[in-house]
Order: sequence, then structure tokens, then C-alpha cells
Amino acid sequence: MVVMPAKVIEGKELAHQIRNELAEDVAKLKEQGVTPQLTVIIVGDDPASKSYVNGKKKASSQTGISSDVIEMPSTISEQELLDKINMLNRDETVHGILVQLPLPDHINEQHIIESISPQKDVDGFHPINTGKMMLGEDTFLPCTPYGIITMLHSYDIQIEGKHAVVIGRSNIVGKPVGQLLLNENATVTYCHSRTNQLTDFTKNADILVVAVGKPYAICAEHIKQGSVIIDVGINRLDDGTLTGDVDFGSAAEKASYITPVPKGVGPMTITMLLRNTIKAAKGLTGIGR
Ligand code: NDP
Repeated sequence: MVVMPAKVIEGKELAHQIRNELAEDVAKLKEQGVTPQLTVIIVGDDPASKSYVNGKKKASSQTGISSDVIEMPSTISEQELLDKINMLNRDETVHGILVQLPLPDHINEQHIIESISPQKDVDGFHPINTGKMMLGEDTFLPCTPYGIITMLHSYDIQIEGKHAVVIGRSNIVGKPVGQLLLNENATVTYCHSRTNQLTDFTKNADILVVAVGKPYAICAEHIKQGSVIIDVGINRLDDGTLTGDVDFGSAAEKASYITPVPKGVGPMTITMLLRNTIKAAKGLTGIGR
């Protein structure tokens, strides 16, 4: 049997194409007097968070979206952060609000997420938006799962009827990506750190989404021949290089499609944030809907 290596899902290229389309959308909104405005709050000076926020700011400006970054010291109280968010909720010039996570331990992340107006919740983490997503209603979808589904659609990868296995059950990646796959009629299995015999599940996955946060957690021996592998992980190795959760080299010999890290899911995540910000601007102003 001749084994063909997997087709690489080029997240960066796809993100670029979608951003060009979004830029056209923004230009049309501007002609009608609306400039989508995203405000990002960052608390403390964690270098990884700063770099994510810079990436979001740069991508916004390339698309014509106006963005602001509010930097707050790690010593602020939860109430001070809530007050700031309330002010932004009331500010009609602000369409999207994003609080970069994680927050310092003394601030309850869920209180903060729930304080953001659901109409401005471009991260899609508010329980109202999570609930709508579960019901399959139109809403702000969380950016990473939204990016993954968009990649699968763009590569015409069939979801309906497939067995999708998601490793990871975080509120921002694992749980919602499984829900979106279920909404599209996949049969979904969730795995996590207490799953016994993980390989029994991964070997039966037509679509395997890996969101664990551990380099080389998954390699060829764990996957099914011809499966679709979506690697969400972002791990920095001791030598400074970035790697995903999947051993790309060995998995690509067996999969039909695979996402690389970097240039896979990451650029799609930011692109979906831009898409959500435009959606928020349209929803709040009633223009361009
Ligand atoms: P979390 O740490 O919140 O969740 C990790 C999940 O992996 C948990 O559900 C955990 O199980 C599970 N897990 C840990 N170890 C194992 C194991 N040995 N076997 C099976 N399951 C395991 O991470 P996130 O969901 O926030 O992120 C996951 C990865 O994705 C990280 O590398 C992160 O950096 C990356 N990421 C990438 C994004 C992108 O745009 N590309 C966006 C967001 C995140 P349990 O629940 O039992 O603890």
C-alpha cells in the first residue's frame, strides 16, 4: 500500500484570505459611518498575554478595525476591573470588549466574563452566548472553535456522521469545539486527563481535535489511518521553538489532513475575533446587517 502524506491545512493562508474579505466588509461599514471598534483589556505584564494582545491589535488595524488596548496593573481589584468594563459596556463607540485571560488569582474570571455585555462579547465566553451556541442559535462563537469549524468547512471536510474526538474540555476550546461539531451532526467523544485508555478513543476518531497543552501528546500510533488532525496546542520548547500537541512528522504520515503549529489554528483564532467584532458593530448599530 502506498501511503500518502496528509494534506496540510494552511491556517495562515486561509486566515489571510478571510481577513481580505473582512477588510472589504469594514470598508463598506466605514462608508456608512461605522468603524468597528475593539477594546482589549490586559491586566498585568505577562509576556505571552502581551504578545497575544499585540497580535490582535495588529490584525485589527490591518483589517481596518479600530482597536484600543487598556493596560491595568496586576494589583487592581476585581471591582476596579468591573467598573472599567461597565464603562465600556455603556460606551456606544465600543463594539467589542475582550479581557485577555488569564487574570491574576485574586480576580474571579467568571465574574469578569459575565460582566461583559453579551452584545459586545467578541470572545463568545458569556454564558448567554454559550447557551445560544448550545441551542444552535446565531451568536458570537468562541474564536478558536469557530476558527476550527471554518477550516474544516473551507477544506470541504465532512463533519456530519463522522466520529469526532476532542481531547481537552476547557470552556474556551475543548467543550465548545465539541459542541460545534455536534451541532454539525458529528458523533462527539470528549477525552480529558482522567480518560482511561485514551488511545482506544483516539484510534477511532475520524476527526481528532487535540487541545491539551502538552508537546507530542499525540503521535502516529494514537491515530486512525486517514483521519483529520486538528492541533490546537501552543507549546514553547526549551530552545524557544513553538510546537503543538501533535507530533506533526509522524502523524502526517497517517492522517488525511493535519494542521501545522504554528500557522494553523492560531491565525484562524485571531481572524474569528475580527469577524466577531464586525458582527458586534453591525448588531449594535443596525448598519450592514
Ligand atoms: P487547559 O489547560 O484549560 O485544558 C487542557 C485540557 O487537556 C484539560 O481538559 C485537561 O484535562 C486535558 N489534558 C491534560 N493532560 C491530558 C492528558 N495527558 N490526556 C488527556 N487530556 C489531558 O487548556 P486550553 O484548552 O486553554 O488550551 C489547550 C492548548 O491549546 C494549550 O496549549 C493552549 O496554549 C492552546 N490554545 C491555542 C489557541 C490557538 O489559538 N491556537 C487558543 C487557546 C488555547 P482535565 O480537564 O481533566 O484537567
